[in-house]
Amino acid sequence: MRALALSDTGVSLRTDYPTPTPRPGEVLVRVLRAGICETDLQLVGGYIGGTTRSRSGRPGFRGVLGHEFVGVAESGVFEGRRVVGEINCSCGECETCRAGHPTHCSSRSVLGILDHDGAFADMIAVPERNLHVVPDEVETDAAVFTEPVAAAFQIPAQLNVTRTDRVVVLGDGRLGNLCAQVLSTLTPYVTVVGKHSHKLALLRSLGIATCPLSELPPERMADIVVDCTGSDTGLPTALGIVRPRGTVVLKTTVAGTQTLALAPIVIDEVTVIGSRCGPFGKALTALQDGSVKVLPLISVRFNLSEGVDALEHARSKPVLKVLLDVTAVP
Ligand SMILES: [Zn+2]
Ligand SMILES: [Zn+2]
Repeated sequence: MRALALSDTGVSLRTDYPTPTPRPGEVLVRVLRAGICETDLQLVGGYIGGTTRSRSGRPGFRGVLGHEFVGVAESGVFEGRRVVGEINCSCGECETCRAGHPTHCSSRSVLGILDHDGAFADMIAVPERNLHVVPDEVETDAAVFTEPVAAAFQIPAQLNVTRTDRVVVLGDGRLGNLCAQVLSTLTPYVTVVGKHSHKLALLRSLGIATCPLSELPPERMADIVVDCTGSDTGLPTALGIVRPRGTVVLKTTVAGTQTLALAPIVIDEVTVIGSRCGPFGKALTALQDGSVKVLPLISVRFNLSEGVDALEHARSKPVLKVLLDVTAVP
């Protein structure tokens, strides 16, 4: 089968990649559409972080990339239906899993990120319990966004957001946009701070207030600041605008090591929360009822066979979402 795979020599499109053999509990899914995300670009760029170090001891992920996808289940209870898949493949038996935190299972693999081939391929093997059926009303293109929309819904899953909270989202990219849309369903006081005029304009067209980074007032007024910058400047900026006893949510990982004065966190009693994968059910509901709009985020699409070009486009151009068409229909 075709697969966009990362090896020691870099990323390449393979046409002879072996079709995955499902592990116990897994089913094969024929991929229809996949989305390129920042994590994919970091993996290609040689990002070696704690969460991407392979358990086999090699420096970073090797295998088929891709974790945002929609496909058709080839077997099992969802056979023939469009499905999306949660990305953490957990053991289901350890203390963490039994406590209800499978995304933190210490022996987990992660689709396209850690010890498990991903979705930039004709086929992917996914644990059946990770699968969710896509409602008929949700277009295949929109369903590709289920995973990042779910990640945005993890913020209200971790933190009580009220109708009076003033929220600032740092970063006008894919994740910042989705986090702002999700938080806007909870409070009308959401502002996105970014650097790209066309991305900020898109947010305004979705009814969300924006502010160019260069015009950010040095006021410490925000109850909640969500850092979606993927940059080492994100947290210092957040600490500069969060109110005393406010909350900073870190939504993106930053490659490399950071140096940051932590005293302001103590002095101002700021709560800092790390936030990662979230509830797929809530995401699919939001895509179905239109409370989160994702189709305007699609910048360009490539065929899987042009996957290397697609990655380069996503890396080098100021685009929002780059989609990969794997199967032409439906
Ligand atoms: Zn992602
Ligand atoms: Zn476990």
